[in-house]
Amino acid sequence: MSEDLIIIGGGIAGLSAALLCGRARRKVAVIDAGRPRNRFADHSHGVFGWDGAGPADMTARQRDQALGYPSVRIVQGEVSAVERSGKGFRVLTTGGDVLQSRRLLLAAGVSDMLPDIEGMEGRWGKTVLHCPYCHGYAFADRPTGVLATTPMAVHQALVVADWGPVTLFTSGLIELDETQRARLGARKVLVETGPVRRLVGGDGALEGVELDDGRRIAVDVLYTVPRISLGLDWLDGLGVVVDEGPLGPIVRTDERRATTAGGIYAAGDCARQPHNASFASADGVAAAMAIHMSLIEEEIARAL
Ligand SMILES: Cc1cc2nc3c(=O)[nH]c(=O)nc-3n(C[C@H](O)[C@H](O)[C@H](O)COP(=O)(O)OP(=O)(O)OC[C@H]3O[C@@H](n4cnc5c(N)ncnc54)[C@H](O)[C@@H]3O)c2cc1C
Repeated sequence: MSEDLIIIGGGIAGLSAALLCGRARRKVAVIDAGRPRNRFADHSHGVFGWDGAGPADMTARQRDQALGYPSVRIVQGEVSAVERSGKGFRVLTTGGDVLQSRRLLLAAGVSDMLPDIEGMEGRWGKTVLHCPYCHGYAFADRPTGVLATTPMAVHQALVVADWGPVTLFTSGLIELDETQRARLGARKVLVETGPVRRLVGGDGALEGVELDDGRRIAVDVLYTVPRISLGLDWLDGLGVVVDEGPLGPIVRTDERRATTAGGIYAAGDCARQPHNASFASADGVAAAMAIHMSLIEEEIARAL
């Protein structure tokens, strides 16, 4: 049985697209591995109508709403291979499912690769953060660190200074020029240039950043910009072009969210930077409309 659309990834981008296509009464299968990027956070913020909701609660509600349309189904599983089959696609999962569709939407998100520093991992999404708009409000006026991984840390420090007093840890990874130092000074950002050894504090909380020279700088929250990875190896050979963005790879799309490979669209974090739940949802909606239109055009061409 062939679907009109297979959506790979059932996060906010994929489920937004599924909802739209379900309302258009198109047959949709969402294949989802169940690891949304924000699963490390206790609360999601800045998402209109959902401010402060738990990420798992949001996803559960979005799944329920998409499944409210009888032409939508969700397959729990991980896509391991995609191949062209006739005018459409054949999609295989690690669990042995084989699905067919006329169109494909990539909505598989990205993975964060945290800096290799002791104490990072257990704090990710709690006291080690990437986005002040998502979580900065909870740490307002508290001592704040920014850990450099790329030159974007300077921008992050300039912005985050609106939430609290900032120390920028360049950790020997970036060099600041005079203009950058002046701009940071204008925002009262302090700079520590020595290598960071580890993060300290108990039970997910953060009390400070320990430098290689043994000093501890007190911070309650640390921002950083992790590099991202896509994990779309199974797309190789299909003609989807991936560009290099400031944070890592991005699937190239046009304004309709169509990739460079015919019939394959992409939405959400895997196909955009910057990343944000509302942007991902909007991308899913835009992709769904474009995919719906492409199905209609194909049916008109077939009928003429
Ligand atoms: C810690 C943290 C907190 C955040 N908090 C906020 C916030 O408060 N507000 C905000 O606006 N944004 C927040 N974000 C950003 C937000 O989470 C992302 O922008 C959003 O999740 C992107 O949606 P998406 O659908 O593109 O990807 P995701 O939500 O990551 O969903 C992708 C889905 O695809 C699945 N998948 C991946 N590969 C496969 C495969 N091969 N087969 C099947 N399924 C697959 C994954 O398991 C996952 O379920 C946060 C991000 C992080 C890291």
